[in-house]
Amino acid sequence: MRRVVLIRPRRDGRIFGKAPGSPYTLMRLASLVPDEIPVEIWDENLRDFPIDTLREGDLVGISAMTTDIDRAEVIARRARAQGAGVVVGGVHATLLPEHVQTFAHSTMIGEGYFTWQELIGHFAAEGIKGLRPVYRDEKWADLHGIATISDRVIQMMDEHTHYWTPYLEITRGCPRNCSFCTAIRVSGQRMRLRPIDEVVDEIQRRRIKRFFLTDDNFGLNFTTAPDYCANLFDALAKLDLTGWTCQSEMGIAKYPELLEMSRAAHLDKHFIGFESVNPDNRRELGGKSRGVAESATEAIRTIRNTGVGVVGLFVMGFDSDTPATFQAMWDFIRTSELDSVSVTMLTPFPGTPFRAQVEAEGRLLDMPWSTYDTAHVTFVPKNFTVEELRAAYDWLCRKVYSPTQIARRGLRSLMRYPLREAGKKAFGSFSTDYGYRRTYAYRNVMPAT
Ligand code: SF4
Repeated sequence: MRRVVLIRPRRDGRIFGKAPGSPYTLMRLASLVPDEIPVEIWDENLRDFPIDTLREGDLVGISAMTTDIDRAEVIARRARAQGAGVVVGGVHATLLPEHVQTFAHSTMIGEGYFTWQELIGHFAAEGIKGLRPVYRDEKWADLHGIATISDRVIQMMDEHTHYWTPYLEITRGCPRNCSFCTAIRVSGQRMRLRPIDEVVDEIQRRRIKRFFLTDDNFGLNFTTAPDYCANLFDALAKLDLTGWTCQSEMGIAKYPELLEMSRAAHLDKHFIGFESVNPDNRRELGGKSRGVAESATEAIRTIRNTGVGVVGLFVMGFDSDTPATFQAMWDFIRTSELDSVSVTMLTPFPGTPFRAQVEAEGRLLDMPWSTYDTAHVTFVPKNFTVEELRAAYDWLCRKVYSPTQIARRGLRSLMRYPLREAGKKAFGSFSTDYGYRRTYAYRNVMPAT
């Protein structure tokens, strides 16, 4: 076996020379490769991998989401032609393995921490013929000591030079059941927690000062594991961090004490999945939000009063949405006290109940997987034509991501901090909205200024 080459297919490119977020999954998988085997990580958001350097004895691992699976297929087929072994894992491989099996020697279903090591052993012993077509890991293993990022990988990545935002995981899973969610189908519905000392050790060894938590619903731990959260915040408060962000739900507003502690632990913003301000969508929202604008407004105010910011995450295109929902959404965002806003298009990802429903109703559009980026219409909506929904989404994005709106929200966000911290917090106050504007522009037609 010559080497392991791990590749992240290109998605959103670079912003001012750096990629938005580090390839965290690949960093953890690379850390599981035995020391005696050379390992490389190639992030196509930074630079393409020179596929013509591949030879027999190389093992290529590609981690892909649905939106970049077409690019993953191109890489996989070319790598196979060069004689390399090819394994594809990640969200798409887990949710639609029969597709990935058409172009990879092996498909990794699930988390892969154990099967990845098994697969390397098979390849090292017998090459491609030793690989099984499918490696399935759906044990939802405890996170104690799982895939600790090695010093070899930390040195190789040079995250500070190449990435704006290092990613980090502290908890995993979500017991909610939103009809459109892929996360719970990949990470499971049992909430799992990493040992706090392992989290602190990883932050220190990676020398990261700011990070984005990949946890599907970190904020739910305020309700289900308050002692863990309090201990975690105590530990993080002692570190020299400039700020971090996480994904949550609006129920955290009921825990002002934990919110105060999280602020002391350098937590900057909660990305909260309000999803909708249309109460008729509550069935699709898995119990975390009732789609009521008044309660969302109240939650935003309560959380911000503790000094922590709120990024509102909204999804458009539910079957109950009408043109009036877009106007209501804009009115809500315009008058809310949100720090930043993400507006995405409902997408029927493989493996979700929502896809099963639109498929059964004959409403799936024949679209390339690359349009499954939550910024395109990929199914026939109920109360719009496809063109009408596309136009309504475009109208809303142009309003929400106008330079004036971004400046207003950024200044509001910056004003949460005392003057002495303004310099340190300026970047984070504007970058989230700018990043969303750019992502939307990158995927659509709006000029990316
Ligand atoms: S709350 Fe978030 S992570 Fe949990 S099921 Fe809903 S969309 Fe998925």
